Amino acid sequence: MSTPKFGFIGLGTMGEPMARRLVQAGYALTVFDLNEAAVDRLQALGATHAADPKTVADNAEIVFASLPTPDIVQKVALGDAGVIHGDKVRVFVDLSTTGPRTAKAVATGLQSKNVVAVDCPVSGGAAGAEKGTLALMVACPNATYEELLPILKCIGKPLFCGEAPGLGQTMKLVNNLVSVTALAVSCEALVMGVKAGLDPQVMLDVFNAGSARNSATADKLPRAVLPRTFDFGFTTALSLKDTRLCLDEAEAMGVPMPVGSSVRQVLNMTRAAFGDNADFTRITCLIEQWAGVEVPTRPHNPN
Ligand code: NAD
Repeated sequence: MSTPKFGFIGLGTMGEPMARRLVQAGYALTVFDLNEAAVDRLQALGATHAADPKTVADNAEIVFASLPTPDIVQKVALGDAGVIHGDKVRVFVDLSTTGPRTAKAVATGLQSKNVVAVDCPVSGGAAGAEKGTLALMVACPNATYEELLPILKCIGKPLFCGEAPGLGQTMKLVNNLVSVTALAVSCEALVMGVKAGLDPQVMLDVFNAGSARNSATADKLPRAVLPRTFDFGFTTALSLKDTRLCLDEAEAMGVPMPVGSSVRQVLNMTRAAFGDNADFTRITCLIEQWAGVEVPTRPHNPN
């Protein structure tokens, strides 16, 4: 049996390093993105360029996508010149964060052409994509999961969430709600402590040695807030999208999320103050403005 050919659509912050890892591992990859510079970089490594998603799916049996929003994923999967019209494609793996409704709509649409949809949102940020250490939340038929395992292991750690379309997406939405809530409250605590006279590095040392340790105190704050670079690699707009998707889903299910709703407003305010593309660690700056204090710069010490 010959090795299947692969496609990759969406070569942004997350998609480009994932696609690069696949090419470097020896997989034959056909790529497409609206950003020609990203396509050129993949071509230079040996990938083939296609003119649109359909052409990717004419060339590849298994097509990955890492795209910004649910609307774009639906268009790329099911629209004119979409993956659905490709001759060769039999599996579509969506690595984007789109929510369970989009995953179900894409799965239903692709089923009409016997293409299996896999929802496989990722967690671990740009650094995890570079290193191939992303958590992959996979929902698809068992047989498809077995087939995909070797290639998924090139980009991260596959974690099977179930066979029903959307279960990986639901897992991702609640994961990100927990993550951004930890960030928001950690930023609040940091600013309050600094205003009271505590050193921010001492605060992180105590948090991380004790019961307050979380993914913000352990990674986001030391890496992007204390050095005041605010460049963790996740935009406020994308974080707001994830939070909104989670809260909309919860509301439709009759699950109140009052804490999550407050965090959504904090993200809304951060976006209003600093723009869509501001890193979500800028939440700190919002609270600094209210508090009338700035967290002093401390260098990032990875050890
Ligand atoms: P990004 O904006 O950096 O990249 C998106 C890419 O898609 C861009 O290169 C853009 O040109 C391309 N694109 C947009 N519309 C297109 C279209 N119609 N056809 C082809 N290409 C198109 O976004 P990202 O940060 O890489 O995130 C991608 C997905 O991964 C999102 O759903 C995001 O929520 C999710 N995610 C991001 C992170 C992160 O830390 N950045 C972490 C986990 C999950």
